[in-house]
Amino acid sequence: MKLVLGGWFRLPRLGSDVFSALMKQGVRYDRELGFKLGHESDVESAVKTISGALGEDMELSLMCLVCSNEACPSCPYAVTCDRRKVSPICLCGEHARGPGAFHTYVSTFASMLAE
Ligand SMILES: [Zn+2]
Repeated sequence: MKLVLGGWFRLPRLGSDVFSALMKQGVRYDRELGFKLGHESDVESAVKTISGALGEDMELSLMCLVCSNEACPSCPYAVTCDRRKVSPICLCGEHARGPGAFHTYVSTFASMLAE
């Protein structure tokens, strides 16, 4: 199963033990949207909990700060990146390139903080 950090995802019913473990690990839950792993979550523990409960490996993916698309498929560091440890605020291949990339990143981040 693939999980995009910062994006909502659904899980099958996993029982109250698993649910309360996920809540302790800072996973957000919304009745309509499902679950979400964010900067407040203990991503490493939550991924272990979910993969243990589902009996399958989890593949983590990051979201592009600028366009909200999945960043990892177009990233040259995807093979060596430990997505449980890096910042969930990342950039896709398109927005990480070019002379304006850093400015776009900083100004998008600044406008998020201002919201
Ligand atoms: Zn992007």
